[in-house]
Amino acid sequence: MRTLADLGDVDGKRVLVRVDFNVPLDDGRVTDDTRIRAAVPTIEELRRRGARLVLVSHLGRPKEREPELSLRPAAAHLAELTEAKVTLAPAVVGEDVRALADRLGRGEMLVLENVRYEPGETKNDPALAAALAELADAYVDDAFGAAHRAHASTVGVAELIEQRAAGLLLEREVMTLSKLLEDPEQPLVAVLGGAKVSDKIAVIERFLALADTILIGGAMCFPFFAAQGHGVGSSLCEADDVSLAERALQAAAGARARLELPRDLVIADRLAADARAQPLDGIEVPEGMMGLDIGPRTSERYAQAIGDAATVFWNGPMGAFELEPFAAGTRAVAEAVASAPGTTVVGGGDSAAAVQGLGLADRVTHLSTGGGAALELIEGKALPGVEALK
Ligand code: ADP
Ligand code: MG
Repeated sequence: MRTLADLGDVDGKRVLVRVDFNVPLDDGRVTDDTRIRAAVPTIEELRRRGARLVLVSHLGRPKEREPELSLRPAAAHLAELTEAKVTLAPAVVGEDVRALADRLGRGEMLVLENVRYEPGETKNDPALAAALAELADAYVDDAFGAAHRAHASTVGVAELIEQRAAGLLLEREVMTLSKLLEDPEQPLVAVLGGAKVSDKIAVIERFLALADTILIGGAMCFPFFAAQGHGVGSSLCEADDVSLAERALQAAAGARARLELPRDLVIADRLAADARAQPLDGIEVPEGMMGLDIGPRTSERYAQAIGDAATVFWNGPMGAFELEPFAAGTRAVAEAVASAPGTTVVGGGDSAAAVQGLGLADRVTHLSTGGGAALELIEGKALPGVEALK
C-alpha cells in the first residue's frame, strides 16, 4: 500500500481526497464530528505540501438528491476545524464543479456534494470514475470506513490516477489491525458482542485461532446457550445463528482460544426503556423473559480478563446499551478497556459509539472509524479500497 510518504510532489496540484464524512446530523448540524476530525491530519499535511484539495465523501444512503443529506454541514464544520477556506460544490461532477476545482489556490479546499447523489457511485460506474478523475492530478484515500466497498470514489477513480496513496488515517487503521492479526502481543483477549452470530462468525473463527480468550456478550450469547441446550426465553436468537454457534463451539473444542460465555444476565419481559430490569444469577432465561445485558458477575470476570491482557480487541456491545437499564455491562467493559494497561483496539459502529458516548475515546489505543471494514479485514478479506492503492 502506498502512503503519503510515497506520494511524491503535490505542490500546486489538485489532489482528490476520499474522506469519510458520513457523520450523524441533527437539523443541519453535525452531532458527532469524530470522522471529520480523523481526516484533518491528512488534509493538513497535504495543505502544507501545497496541494489544492478536492474532497469527496458519501453521507447516508440517498435514493435521489435528498437535500437533508447534503455535505454542507460537514463542509462548514471542516472550515471551523481547519480555519481554512472551504467551498461546497453544487454537485459531485460536471462543468461547474470542474471550474471550481481549477480555480482552487494552494491549501484551499473544495468539498464535492454527497457522492451517492450519483447513482453510479455504488455501481463503480466507469463514467463517474472518469469524471472524478478529471478533477484531480493525484488521489488520496483516507476513508477507511468505505474501504470494503468497490465504489467509483474508492476503487474506480483510484485505478485511473497513477499518483495515488493512502492517507494517514487509512494507513494507521490498516497497520494497527494488521499488527493485531499478524503479530499481537500475547495474551490477546477478544471481546465479541452485538446482535447476531451470523454477522460475526468469521471474526469468532479467526480469533479462535489467534486469541487466548474470547469473551462473548450481547444478544450473541443466546444462540450459544441454545446450542448448549439452555432455555433462552424470548431473547434474540435465530435458528441460523444457533447452528453457527454450534459450529463455533465445535471449533472451540480444539482451538487455541478459550471461549467464555456469560455467567449471569439482566433480563426483562420486553425491550423498552421503562421495562423492569431484573438480575438473573445464572443463564437459564425463563419463558416470556428476554436477556438484555450481561450480569455483574460476568462484567467483573470480563473486566479482569481485559485488565490482564497485553492486547484487547473489542467489537459489539454487551447488551441493549442504548437503553439505560441494559447499559451496565457495556459500560463496565468500556471502562475496563479504557483502564487496561495493554494495547486496546475497538472496532464496530455501535461499540465505537458506546466508547465515544462514555467519553473514553482518548483512553483506547485505537478506536477504528470503520465498523464493517475493520471486521472484513479481521476476517481475512482483502479490502478493495486498499487493494486499489497498490
Ligand atoms: P457493532 O456495531 O459494534 O458491530 P452490532 O451492530 O453487532 O455491534 O450490535 C449492536 C446492537 O446489538 C445494538 O443495537 C444493541 O442494542 C444490540 N444488542 C446487544 N445485546 C442485545 C440483547 N441482549 N438483546 C437485544 N439487542 C441487543
Ligand atoms: Mg452495528
